[in-house]
Amino acid sequence: MVVKSLVEYPDSLLREVSTKVDVFDSDLQVLINDLIDTMLAEDSMGLAAPQIGELKRVFVLNKKRIAGDKNQKYQSEDILCVVNPEINFQENPIDSSEGCLSFPGRREIVKRFSSIEIQALNQQNQSFKLSGDGMLSILIQHEIDHLNGILFIDKK
Ligand SMILES: [Zn+2]
Repeated sequence: MVVKSLVEYPDSLLREVSTKVDVFDSDLQVLINDLIDTMLAEDSMGLAAPQIGELKRVFVLNKKRIAGDKNQKYQSEDILCVVNPEINFQENPIDSSEGCLSFPGRREIVKRFSSIEIQALNQQNQSFKLSGDGMLSILIQHEIDHLNGILFIDKK
């Protein structure tokens, strides 16, 4: 288990655009494991690779936490790994109250969409589609923004 230290605002790394993953090797698996370990250690709903200093288009989500379940026993199927995400569509604007591990203690009301559908790859380079509503949709948008150097304070 490797818990990485978090990159915090105003570190300029958070403003970089991450590069696409094109090699699905053991280095990628290590990055994904580090993301998962760090997300769980922080009891966070999601974490993007730039937040642990890796400018790769990868993020992880904890579906159980997103669904509001605070029981900290997680199965592997509770964790979602998303590589090279592309937004197919997003709709229904909403206001979202958010925090971010890179901004300790700060919360803001930001503009999001309540529904989203993305196309992405999993850690085995297999394509999948993911639709989300409510909190899941918001988390997906928040994490994709991190891959583009966009932070939640930009969406006020
Ligand atoms: Zn964040």
